[in-house]
Amino acid sequence: MTLTEAALVALIARAFERHGMSPPNAALVAAVVAAAERDGAASHGLLRLDGYIATLRSGWVDGAAAPVVAQPAPAILAVDARNGFAQVALAAVRDQAMAVARSQGLAAVCIADSHHFAALWPDVEPFAEQGFIALTVVNTRSRIVAWGGRRKVLGTNPMAFACPRGDGPPVVWDQASSQRAQGEVLKARIEGRPVPEGVGLDAAGEPTTDPASILDGGALLPFGGHKGAGIAFMIEVLAAAMTGGRFGFQDDSPAFPGAQTSRAGQFLLVIDPARGPGGDVPGRIASLVSMLREAGAQRMPGDERRHRRAQSLRDGISIPDAAHAKLVALAGDTQ
Ligand code: NDP
Repeated sequence: MTLTEAALVALIARAFERHGMSPPNAALVAAVVAAAERDGAASHGLLRLDGYIATLRSGWVDGAAAPVVAQPAPAILAVDARNGFAQVALAAVRDQAMAVARSQGLAAVCIADSHHFAALWPDVEPFAEQGFIALTVVNTRSRIVAWGGRRKVLGTNPMAFACPRGDGPPVVWDQASSQRAQGEVLKARIEGRPVPEGVGLDAAGEPTTDPASILDGGALLPFGGHKGAGIAFMIEVLAAAMTGGRFGFQDDSPAFPGAQTSRAGQFLLVIDPARGPGGDVPGRIASLVSMLREAGAQRMPGDERRHRRAQSLRDGISIPDAAHAKLVALAGDTQ
């Protein structure tokens, strides 16, 4: 089945609305799920739909939440997401964040009590398209063991960075603190294939390549050993301690059977490069990228997604018939 992006967003939004989301919130979250499908980021596209619906049904997240924005300091914006989705909170503060970054040089956005179940690049790419540098981090429920510990304390804590480039689209990267995102392990389980060594441990703390053993009582490992653990720790500090959100280890989702999202926090830094001492920052980024290309870098982060995006915008977004049928049923449409 091939759909336009607008048709896919509308279908996903109807499925969300039928399961308790307000229409504006449903449209915002549907847009990031559809964007993941459009850009070929399958681990955070329709694969996540069951998780969203189960979580909404469980009552763990408020699909109709209305975030509240405050400004405790000139360059700090605090958003209480009110137990809703992080994309809704970010949409509520986006324009103010850009205005503050223009006037103060930077804006630190602290989102608390939010659920993020998507890829992070949609959160930062639009800022770089407007000329800003943006860095965001999200903490999740405890999923990795760090520094030789016996229990999971830190989350898979993802981070994304976007910067404007003078001679082309922004450079954007987006990655988990774990060796593999949990969504990738989930995808491997569904597809019946092992994950590479070094991705996770089983319930007994032994290394395994079986995705089910990792997901059912096991743990993920940080990327780069102790160095990735340091990044995951920093993200827990910024996204939870700094925002007032919950740490991953404070997760109490078991009281809500079906809940799959993490009730946590998000931190976003928006910088106006024109206010700094670097001069023509987008031009300098362009020269850095061209040096990397000249040195043989064949694929820069974001290249693959942009390639898939161009294909989808030209030919439509292709989704498996079974996934489409399920979506139609969830949306309550007749085929
Ligand atoms: P990957 O390891 O697949 O990719 C990380 C980054 O590296 C991407 O920007 C990617 O670009 C780039 N990249 C990948 N392969 C290459 C290569 N060979 N050469 C150059 N660049 C490359 O990401 P993860 O598995 O770590 O994370 C996947 C997703 O999971 C992310 O979108 C993350 O936000 C999401 N996530 C969300 C969580 C949440 O709670 N919401 C929790 C954890 C993860 P490109 O995009 O072009 O492929």
